[in-house]
Amino acid sequence: MRIPLIAGNWKMYKTVAETVQFIDELKGLLAGAGDGVEVVLCPPYTALSAAAEALRGSGIFLSAQNMYWEEQGAFTGEISPLMLREIGCKYVILGHSERRQYFGETDEAVNKKAKAALKHGLIPIVCVGETLEEREAGITEKVISTQVKGALTGLDPAQTAGLVVAYEPVWAIGTGRTASDDDAQKVNAFIRGLLAEIAGREAAEKVRIQYGGSVKPENAAGLMAKPDIDGALVGGASLKPDSFAGIIKASR
Ligand code: PEP
Repeated sequence: MRIPLIAGNWKMYKTVAETVQFIDELKGLLAGAGDGVEVVLCPPYTALSAAAEALRGSGIFLSAQNMYWEEQGAFTGEISPLMLREIGCKYVILGHSERRQYFGETDEAVNKKAKAALKHGLIPIVCVGETLEEREAGITEKVISTQVKGALTGLDPAQTAGLVVAYEPVWAIGTGRTASDDDAQKVNAFIRGLLAEIAGREAAEKVRIQYGGSVKPENAAGLMAKPDIDGALVGGASLKPDSFAGIIKASR
């Protein structure tokens, strides 16, 4: 039985003060209503420490939005898995389409990061997804297959089983356009098939595969009802406590 994972990716939004205020409001709105769903917040690095403190005892977990694969060194501007663990992160988002698009992140880099995250006890949320051009060219499955296989090269079945994969069609991120429930299910089922090829059916059945792309309280229940959609990676709608709480409640 896979527990749905609802993660709020705040991107480059929210100061420390805004983070603490958000968490106070969210805790008030949820008050037990998050049962049956795992809830994760992914604030910017600068707010992780304050978020960890504010989340203490809430049952809500913390994630970073990215990390580097080395433990330490002369890598100006980067953050290591050790640092994320120390601050209290359980998860780390890897390979978000914005990292791929604006910062040149490759499948090879995602793979190195995934291995480093697992080595240090962080659970990677590995993002994959096709662009509009790729969808229209009919190569969605080819693109997803390259990304999934590239990200997971060299992981053993037990490591793969513990992962989270987020299917995020790039054309649906921040655009208000959502994949239909059936389209999202189709790609998520395809991803589970790929995972079975890579790591065996038993491991594949354990992997939580999220959908991401303009998820809102109004469309969450339909998406979450699909058998291979095990939660959501939420951008815009995770920035307001009431809309994020609405998605969590719709996902139970
Ligand atoms: C995201 O950034 O991962 C995302 C899905 O954004 P949005 O919900 O705003 O489309």
